[in-house]
Amino acid sequence: MRLRAGGRSDRGQKRPQNEDAYACRPELRLFVVCDGMGGEAAGEVASRLAVDTILTQVKGAQRELEKAPPRSTDGFMVRSRRLGAAVELSNQAIYRKSQKNPQLARMGTTVVSAWVGDSVASVAHVGDSRAYLWRAPHLEQLTRDHSLVEEQVRAGLLARSESHQAKDQNALLRVLGREAEVEVDLTEVPLRPGDCLLLCTDGLTRVAKDEELADAIRTLREPQKICDHLVELANRNGGPDNITVVTVAVLQKSLWQRFWERVTP
Ligand code: CA
Repeated sequence: MRLRAGGRSDRGQKRPQNEDAYACRPELRLFVVCDGMGGEAAGEVASRLAVDTILTQVKGAQRELEKAPPRSTDGFMVRSRRLGAAVELSNQAIYRKSQKNPQLARMGTTVVSAWVGDSVASVAHVGDSRAYLWRAPHLEQLTRDHSLVEEQVRAGLLARSESHQAKDQNALLRVLGREAEVEVDLTEVPLRPGDCLLLCTDGLTRVAKDEELADAIRTLREPQKICDHLVELANRNGGPDNITVVTVAVLQKSLWQRFWERVTP
């Protein structure tokens, strides 16, 4: 499975600094988006530490995975479990750093990450940064926000259509770095050629409708162009927050790959 990916992060129009961070590493098949929070520059420290810790952990796990059975005993693939463990470790790293340094106390970050295997993406997330899957002609949200607003919608107390204007938009029920332990949501998504994964922070999803995300993917196709377009769209709509987007397109196998598979048993 061949991938082509693009990424972009932007301060937006209103915030003094960019506390989002991301990694777009097609050679590792790893994609991470984080939305940091905390006073002064603490949010930047938390989101960068999360991205770096996950990258280091995944690099270390690559070789081990070649030997590991594809599924662990609980039904998840070993790859997914390793990604979940990497996110848990990043939580501990942020928590420890915030405990040691009073200026960084209460720093935290969301995370959404995708690690793509042969034909399945493992997705791990905490907070309200999201992953979407585009499979023509539909866009599906793969993650469920760990936010008060999402819980109110699920409980029937708030209509989904009103949730964009709801108060307490910022109230998250789970983030990295605030507690010694965190529960990480894992999901596994079978991929096929033509699919496109989109990871993003709420700086995009609060000012762009799902239909606009779908339109950008369908009409532009090229991952970097999609990211550039969506960042510009968020900025045109006021850019109230930092904006980060990563897109990953699943390509047809090359002629050479197909030939090789046919001639090797
Ligand atoms: Ca944000």
